Amino acid sequence: MKKNDYLFRCPECGTRNKVPGDKIGVHATCGKCKAVMNTIELLEDKPVTVTDADFHVTVEKSPLPVLLDCWAPWCGPCKMMGPVFDELAREWKGKVRVCKINVDENPIISGRFQVQSIPTILILDRGIQKDLMIGALPKQQIMAKMASYL
Ligand SMILES: [Zn+2]
Repeated sequence: MKKNDYLFRCPECGTRNKVPGDKIGVHATCGKCKAVMNTIELLEDKPVTVTDADFHVTVEKSPLPVLLDCWAPWCGPCKMMGPVFDELAREWKGKVRVCKINVDENPIISGRFQVQSIPTILILDRGIQKDLMIGALPKQQIMAKMASYL
């Protein structure tokens, strides 16, 4: 794979399609099932807010592996982590979809992943849990863990 190639998971069948950096935004279809791939999503550079209602679309059909920050507004360590996730979203543009979910407002998803304490940071691929980290952690540690799922 070339340095500016991206792997875009088809929203319908999950096949990883290679997207050259200079083809982002150009009409593209999955090599396997021909579903339309909205490759412009590779340019997201901010954390995406997820809710119980849109988890399916935003996370399970994500074109990229997901780093999901489970947080709540009253949690001090969660607030500390906020700028870290902003940075990760910028640095991982095109590689990881960085998402945030407020656990108080979204009991279905926090229940599904049995979030007991916050912050909990989940690594998900097509909605399937690959790994998790608990507590406020240094950015480097999160990056090291995430690196094995890219
Ligand atoms: Zn497909």
